[in-house]
Amino acid sequence: MAKVTVAYGDGIGPEIMKATLKIFEAAGVELEYDEIEIGEQVYKQGHTSGIKEEDWEKVVNNKIFFKAPITTPQGGGYKSLNVTIRKTLGLYANIRPVKSLHPFVQTKHPKIDMVIVRENEEDLYAGIEHRQTPEVYQCLKLITAPGSEKICRYAFELAKAYGRDKVTCMTKDNIMKLTDGLFHKTFDKIGEEYSSIKQDHSIIDIGMARVADTPENFDVIVTPNLYGDIVSDVAAQVAGSVGLAGSANIGETCAMFEAIHGSAPDIAGQKIANPSGLLMGGLLMLRHLGMAESAVKIENAWLKTIEDGIHTGDIASDAHTKQKVGTDDFAQAIIDRLGQEPAQLKGARATSSSEPMKLGVQSQKTEVKRDLDGVDIFAFEDDRNPDTLGGKLKAACADLPLDLVIITNRGVKVFPDGKPETFCTDHWRCRFMKRESASTITGSDLIALQTAVNGAGVDIIKTENLYTFDGDRGYSLGQGQ
Ligand code: NAD
Repeated sequence: MAKVTVAYGDGIGPEIMKATLKIFEAAGVELEYDEIEIGEQVYKQGHTSGIKEEDWEKVVNNKIFFKAPITTPQGGGYKSLNVTIRKTLGLYANIRPVKSLHPFVQTKHPKIDMVIVRENEEDLYAGIEHRQTPEVYQCLKLITAPGSEKICRYAFELAKAYGRDKVTCMTKDNIMKLTDGLFHKTFDKIGEEYSSIKQDHSIIDIGMARVADTPENFDVIVTPNLYGDIVSDVAAQVAGSVGLAGSANIGETCAMFEAIHGSAPDIAGQKIANPSGLLMGGLLMLRHLGMAESAVKIENAWLKTIEDGIHTGDIASDAHTKQKVGTDDFAQAIIDRLGQEPAQLKGARATSSSEPMKLGVQSQKTEVKRDLDGVDIFAFEDDRNPDTLGGKLKAACADLPLDLVIITNRGVKVFPDGKPETFCTDHWRCRFMKRESASTITGSDLIALQTAVNGAGVDIIKTENLYTFDGDRGYSLGQGQ
């Protein structure tokens, strides 16, 4: 029997977890539960991640974690438990199904039925930020080839397993041609293996607008971390289901399942919380564990309960509620309907493929020839005259195999021949390229250049090497270059 780590969490967590597990039991779900304590009390005992070391071991050993919401105490020093879990366990895919339950749950979009597959580890969320000068801060956006492959493959495998027709990729690769471009290209490449599934790409801004306007046209959406964070909240909000949605965080060996709402301290202990969000997270877990039949049975009973007008306070309405109930009675109503199907709402999706999902990196790694072309030296200079800086740098590299070709400020060319109108900060990107007369350049040449630049009194804050890969430029050109 599969063993699952279970945490009851804070606030309404224990109430909704008990209700959910009671429904599982009644549906004949065979799981063994290994209970741990997480959240507010654990933080306050001095565990800054909200979990004790011995419990962390259980999470890792059991591999599957079913987690009720927790309260993160206010104040400094506490780390987000979710971020710790996601990063440490390598949970690269965040899966959020979004479905409207019209007319029982209010929405302007009655026909939404989509899944958002969000990359969960990379992008701007790698957490690599620096203050480089008094005026300028940076956050590194990292998109990797294996990370993009894993998430795109997950999206296609999910579509295949659930009989979904279309996967839409969303990026901003018209601007970020290398990073988002890699994600988009990987989507196209992996997509070739799934020719029976429709596939398209949308620039994130118009894509997000369409999700808000005509969400019923989307099926599966796959997108990098930051866009995914936003688009999944937009989708849940337009479906009216923020309080009813579950989410899965999937890694190569471990996975975590939860509700998307928080611990709702304002209603904790009153036994009125809606357990649906956690239940939906739990159903994603059952499907992940190969128990799709139980998941379908429970989801249909849940849909029938809602359709029968048995509602918790958060979704109750004069028009559609016949009986307003608390957490336990809502769970009991679902149990009473196990084996029934909704008449009006669309029933749960059966898993259409019995094959296990083919996940992870499947592409063969190929040798890539990498050649050094030059270097960007980023400098701090409070004097805002680019010609003075350019003159100093030209002189500094005169005897070296690298020449200064351009200086940009916030990506805009300011030397040579800059425009006096361009606003300049104290942060300069100085691009040196291999001179035509030099056959190759090496790391030693870059060090000699840095020594010369430093000797000219220019304050270097960082350097970034410029490479070609199999002859393709691995860096963007400065605006105006
Ligand atoms: P929240 O989601 O807990 O509550 C927002 C509102 O929705 C409240 O009015 C609440 O009563 C209501 N609500 C939420 N879930 C409900 C349910 N199941 N049934 C009925 N009503 C429900 O958000 P918040 O108030 O911003 O956050 C409270 C705490 O939860 C904070 O400490 C926050 O850090 C934490 N939080 C935890 C998680 C998590 O563990 N994954 C996620 C989000 C927030």
